[in-house]
Amino acid sequence: MSTSVPPPVKPVSLSKQGDDRLVIVWSDGHRSEYHWTHLREHCPCAGCREERLAPPNPLRILKPAELAPLRPVAFTPIGYYAYKITWSDGHDSGLFTLETLRALCECPACSKSTQAAK
Ligand SMILES: [Zn+2]
Ligand SMILES: [Zn+2]
Repeated sequence: MSTSVPPPVKPVSLSKQGDDRLVIVWSDGHRSEYHWTHLREHCPCAGCREERLAPPNPLRILKPAELAPLRPVAFTPIGYYAYKITWSDGHDSGLFTLETLRALCECPACSKSTQAAK
């Protein structure tokens, strides 16, 4: 029996599921599913956070890149604690820490527990 803090959960495998989803299997056996749009909507970079806080501008013209479905073109590990997603529109300033990724999990079990917490 050890009383030390358990090691942080780490992804043991990352894979694409179909065209629109990412699947992460964690070291504790949990399997997370994410829609790319869900990850992009929760991009933690300052630019996206500001955009989400700003009131919607009805006169804003969508850029062609925004009309095309967004896909990630690269998923780069940053050290041991985060992943950087590069998107098909060139956006790459969002660093998703493992904590953030785990919190964004869309699997039925996690969505249930987030709903219960509300
Ligand atoms: Zn962003
Ligand atoms: Zn989950």
